[in-house]
Amino acid sequence: MSNKIPEKSITVVGGGASGMMAALSAAMHGAKTVRIIEKNNALGRKLLATGNGRCNLTNINCSDAPETLQFFEHIGLLTRVEDEGRVYPYSGQAAAVQEILVCSLRDLQVKVFCGMEVESIDRKGDGFLIRIRDHEPMKTDVLILAAGGKAGPQYGSTGDGCRWARTLGHTVVSLMPSLVRLVSDLSFFHALKGVRAKGRAELMRMNQVVEQEIGEIQFTEDGLSGICIFNLSRHYKKGDIIRIDLFPEFSDEMLEELVISRINESGGGSIKEILNGMLNKKLVAVILKEIDLDEESKAGKLSREEILKIISILKGWQISIAGTKGWKEAQITSGGVELSEINSNTMESKLVPGLYFAGELLDVDEKCGGYNLQWAWSSGMKAGKSAAAISKKI
Ligand SMILES: Cc1cc2nc3c(=O)[nH]c(=O)nc-3n(C[C@H](O)[C@H](O)[C@H](O)COP(=O)(O)OP(=O)(O)OC[C@H]3O[C@@H](n4cnc5c(N)ncnc54)[C@H](O)[C@@H]3O)c2cc1C
Repeated sequence: MSNKIPEKSITVVGGGASGMMAALSAAMHGAKTVRIIEKNNALGRKLLATGNGRCNLTNINCSDAPETLQFFEHIGLLTRVEDEGRVYPYSGQAAAVQEILVCSLRDLQVKVFCGMEVESIDRKGDGFLIRIRDHEPMKTDVLILAAGGKAGPQYGSTGDGCRWARTLGHTVVSLMPSLVRLVSDLSFFHALKGVRAKGRAELMRMNQVVEQEIGEIQFTEDGLSGICIFNLSRHYKKGDIIRIDLFPEFSDEMLEELVISRINESGGGSIKEILNGMLNKKLVAVILKEIDLDEESKAGKLSREEILKIISILKGWQISIAGTKGWKEAQITSGGVELSEINSNTMESKLVPGLYFAGELLDVDEKCGGYNLQWAWSSGMKAGKSAAAISKKI
C-alpha cells in the first residue's frame, strides 16, 4: 500500500492572462495536479490584442513590476521599457508573451482543456463541481476563478465569472465598460472625425472637476477617444460632461494677449485665418460655429466680448457626453467581485474556503499603460501560490 499523501486538485477556470499566471504560479510552487479550463480554442486570445498587438505587459511605475519582470525574464521573455514606463516584449509582438506562457504551462505539465465552456459551478462537499457544455462535469478540490469581466467579449470574457461568484455567495459591484470611447450626440463630431489635438481634458460633474488628463484627444465621428479620454472613462457617470482646454500651456490672459497681437498684426484678415495658424482647421470651423461667430468676420472688427468668447471656448470647451461605447470596444471592466470579501494576501475568498480569484473578474480597474495586465499577473501569482500551499494540506 502506498503511503503517499494524495494532493488536492487545483482547477483554474479561464485561460487568459490571470488564469495562465495562476496555473503557472501554482505549478511553480509545487502543486502537482493543476488544470486550466478555457472556452476558446487557444489560451490567451485577448493577450494577442493588447497594446495594439504589442502587449504593454506592465509599467515600471507599478510596485509589483519588478516581480513580474523577474518572472518573465525567468521564463525567457526579453522586454524593453518605452515611454512613460510602459514595458513591451522586445520583439514587439504580443504573441511572444502568449506563446512563452503556453510553453511554460506545457513544461510544468499543467493540463490545458481548451474549447470547453464552463456553464455553472457549485459547491460539492469541500470542493466544487464544474459543469461544462457538452462534456462530463469535473470535480476539483481548489478552484481559481479567472474568467475575466465583460470587456472585449469577442475574446471570450462575457461576465460568466461574476455570475458564478454570485452563486457561490459573493457580492458583485455592478459592471461598466471602461477604458473606452465617450460618445456624444452633438452633430459637429461628423466634421471632426480623425482630428487629433493635444490638450487637457477634464471630466466634470455638477461644475466640479472629477478627474483630469493631459495628452492627445482624438475626435471621432460620434465622440472622443485617445488615452486620456480612456482614462477619464473609468470615472464616467451619466450626466457628466468633458471640458477641453486646447491651450493648456497658456493662461486665459496669455492666450488673449496672443490672439490680440495676432489680430493686430494680421492686416485685416478673418478670424478663421488667425485661428487656423494656431489650431486644426476643422476645430476652428466648429468652435466658431459653436459660439455663433461668422468665420469670415474681420478679426480687427471683433468686440472685446467676442474675443473673450473665443478665449473661453479655446480654454474651456464644454462637450456633453451621452454615454460610453459598449463592451465590444471596452478594454476593461469596472466593477466586479467585491474586494472586501477576498483576502488580498492570498486572493482566497473569505466566504468560501478553497475558492480563489484572479484578474479582471475582481472589482479592480486601472488606467492605460500596462497597469491592468500587471493586476492580472500579480493577482494570478498570489492566487496560484496560495492555492498550491493549501493543495498540499490534506
Ligand atoms: C483590445 C484590448 C487591449 C488591451 N491592451 C492592454 C495593454 O496593452 N496593457 C494592459 O495592461 N491591459 C490591456 N488590456 C486589458 C487586459 O487585456 C486585461 O486587463 C487582462 O486581459 C485581464 O486578464 P484576465 O485573465 O483577468 O481576463 P481575460 O483576459 O478576459 O481572460 C478570461 C478568460 O476566461 C475565459 N472564459 C470566460 N468565460 C468562460 C467560460 N464560461 N468557460 C471557460 N472559459 C471562460 C475567456 O475566454 C478568457 O480567455 C487590453 C484589453 C483589450 C480588450
